[in-house]
Amino acid sequence: MKNRVTTLFDIQYPIIQAGMIWCSPWQLAAAVSNAGGLGIIGSGSMYPEVLKEHVEKCKKATDKPFAVNIPLLYPNIEEHVKTIIDYKVPVVFSSAGNPKTWTGELKKHGIKVVHVVSSAKFAQKAAAAGVDAVVAEGFEAGGHNGREETTTLCLIPLVADAVDIPVIAAGGIGSGRAMAAAMALGAEGVQIGSRFAASEESSAHLNFKNKIVATQEGDTVLTLKELAPVRLIKNKFYEEVAAAYQRGAEKEELISILGRARSKKGMFEGDMDEGELEIGQVAAMINNVKPAAEIFNEILAEYRQVRANLLASNYDF
Ligand code: NDP
Repeated sequence: MKNRVTTLFDIQYPIIQAGMIWCSPWQLAAAVSNAGGLGIIGSGSMYPEVLKEHVEKCKKATDKPFAVNIPLLYPNIEEHVKTIIDYKVPVVFSSAGNPKTWTGELKKHGIKVVHVVSSAKFAQKAAAAGVDAVVAEGFEAGGHNGREETTTLCLIPLVADAVDIPVIAAGGIGSGRAMAAAMALGAEGVQIGSRFAASEESSAHLNFKNKIVATQEGDTVLTLKELAPVRLIKNKFYEEVAAAYQRGAEKEELISILGRARSKKGMFEGDMDEGELEIGQVAAMINNVKPAAEIFNEILAEYRQVRANLLASNYDF
């Protein structure tokens, strides 16, 4: 498959594994890159020394391009950027912040930069900041998300019409069917998170992987908009948040309920009651934990089948 996304990253297929905190170690990134896509190390939950180790190990595990995701709110961002430059990581996916801050510096070192956006307006800002592509992430996505609640179905064409750089679709994509739909809407690639969070190589706790498999339609919610909107599984911790909303809690109370390291407690340490369990709506369609390469190949095969069916004019309209 050749298009602007595969050419930009020098990869075989425009399937990108999202950089997810606590779930995207070097093992997952290398497996996806070796399968012909672009694997991403999620650095948001990694202390600087930990990121170094993951980049070193990823370089040993694959000779294919891979990326690092940096949430721009990360406290020691200078150290992460230095690691990325020192180790010549070819691609950075930035998120949750202003793309103007680091894009120029990264590009000066020949690094491709992609920024995650949740609206056409931010896509234009990212393009103006000089990024090479944008990820347009819709309402369905897990983890941090846009305030506007624009669904992937509406967001992709809005963003594709607003910018000239390639658009990578994210949010609600965990299958070849969804990938075909995203490509039809104007995306040139897809970024897939939740499906890979439930892979064997994901660093998520086994309890969290099993929880993803058990998650059904309606079990996730986008909440905590006053702090940073996040889609998570409705569990005991969320019930506390919901009760606080019901009694009209102020922002300060929400901050104290959230506390610190909730996502680590849930996704990495496996506390399914007290932890923050970030996952997308697509979890309702995830029924097993498999090796990442198997997931990748299934998505690709289904995409090709759906595309062939559509092209074969199986429909009389
Ligand atoms: P908290 O402030 O609640 O906790 C910080 C967590 O990050 C702790 O568990 C800590 O590990 C870990 N951590 C890793 N590196 C550092 C560092 N240099 N300084 C301090 N803590 C560090 O944050 P969250 O758990 O909510 O989020 C962590 C990061 O992930 C943030 O940068 C956030 O922006 C990003 N994020 C991105 C999301 C996305 O969808 N892109 C979703 C959610 C968060 P320890 O407990 O071992 O100290």
